[in-house]
Amino acid sequence: MLDFTLTPAQLDLQQQAREFARKEILPVAWYYDEIDETPLPLLKKAYDAGLINGDIPQNYGGKGWGLIENVVMTEEFAAACPGLATSLFDNSLGLEPLLLSKNEPLKKKYLPGILNDFKLICFATSEPTMGSDVAGIRCKAEQDGEDYVLNGTKYWITNGGMADYMSIFATVDPDSQHKGVCAFLVERDWEGVSIGRKIPKLGQRGSNTTGIHFKDVRVPKENVMAPPGEGFVLAMQTFARTRPAIGAFAIGTARSAMEFAIDYAKKRRAFGAKIGDFQAIQHKIAEMYQKVETSRLLVWKAAWEADQAMDPTIAASIAKFYATETALEVANEALQIFGGYGYTKMFPVEKLLRDARLFRIYEGTSEVQRQIVAGYAMNGYRPVMPPLEELPLHREMDPAALAGEPGKSTWRCRICGYVHYGDEAPQECPYCFFPQSAFKAVV
Ligand SMILES: Cc1cc2nc3c(=O)[nH]c(=O)nc-3n(C[C@H](O)[C@H](O)[C@H](O)COP(=O)(O)OP(=O)(O)OC[C@H]3O[C@@H](n4cnc5c(N)ncnc54)[C@H](O)[C@@H]3O)c2cc1C
Repeated sequence: MLDFTLTPAQLDLQQQAREFARKEILPVAWYYDEIDETPLPLLKKAYDAGLINGDIPQNYGGKGWGLIENVVMTEEFAAACPGLATSLFDNSLGLEPLLLSKNEPLKKKYLPGILNDFKLICFATSEPTMGSDVAGIRCKAEQDGEDYVLNGTKYWITNGGMADYMSIFATVDPDSQHKGVCAFLVERDWEGVSIGRKIPKLGQRGSNTTGIHFKDVRVPKENVMAPPGEGFVLAMQTFARTRPAIGAFAIGTARSAMEFAIDYAKKRRAFGAKIGDFQAIQHKIAEMYQKVETSRLLVWKAAWEADQAMDPTIAASIAKFYATETALEVANEALQIFGGYGYTKMFPVEKLLRDARLFRIYEGTSEVQRQIVAGYAMNGYRPVMPPLEELPLHREMDPAALAGEPGKSTWRCRICGYVHYGDEAPQECPYCFFPQSAFKAVV
């Protein structure tokens, strides 16, 4: 069954998120971008409205939302401000490794506080010298008895300056690549944890981004989310579930850029007509609309796969890649429709363009998404058609075969594809001149 209809509960959530976005996020978005701050009271309002932590399962007291709920809500937040949406979404990212972890007592210890006491949790794989190559983590986790001692620095951490808890990925041996990666739940107030200065950014300035430094931070064994050897997989599983949400950020951003551009095109006049009457502008708008719609299909498909307990890795990569690439294109064309005004801070598209630029970078760059999809297409994907060498013969082109001449074997040149009918392969291919050894019998 194929069904794109949202349930009444999902439609309610969409409506609630939309209202929150228009009433609470939109009016403050440009102010916080300008002053480069993340308003904690706004995050608290979203928390009080039940729009944060919805993904905590019901058996831990949460709402047990699926990814569909998450992407529907996130699109609305991002439509009002992609930067604030990044900070609002960050608990979902920080929580994901804990929810996926096998450490039940750890979930029971932390989830109630996160649910009931407005606690923020951030996610940290990236470091000053490493982002894409998660197996290359250098932050050191040294085993001491049953505990671990953390030393190193995490960088680019969203809500790093605000979070109470942290999902930290480290390694017991930086040279052992994937095998050494492990993950811990760390509290900000533990001795040896320090937060760096807020990192100045091009866009998404409403989201808080900092480094976090660990100096001899003792992590009790109870706080291990993934032991050495299991951390890399946990990080990848996390990304497979959070990348659709980045796609949803991109849809919301592109949608708003498109809406503002349509509004402007209907009002701005040039050469005695509204610019929206020019076919050149209409084509831009058509392409924007197509890209927003296509992105949503891909993002919902990836979220649906995750909610069906399928492995969403490839669908998530495709959705993240396509939606984020096209959001930048849509925002850029929206700015073009605004002409000179698009380039000013008086209209909203310059901010959307700056904000959209980040989507192609965090949670795996576009280059990394291409790598993931190429790896699957070339190694994991099971083709429907037979290999080239086993293609059926084009018999209608061969009168002898059409006549059903028995006893004649068929040989295909593996280099140029020439098909030879005869009891033996020819000494030499008459097309590419490769020797007899290039021929393979077609069965
Ligand atoms: C505002 C912001 C917020 C962030 N929030 C978080 C967060 O909350 N938690 C967290 O852990 N991280 C976070 N990140 C980090 C983000 O995930 C990384 O920046 C990203 O993964 C890229 O890593 P990098 O910056 O180290 O670039 P690098 O990995 O050094 O890559 C540099 C360039 O080389 C390319 N490249 C790298 N490897 C390959 C390859 N094999 N093939 C082709 N090209 C390649 C990349 O695509 C990129 O273009 C955030 C980043 C930003 C900017």
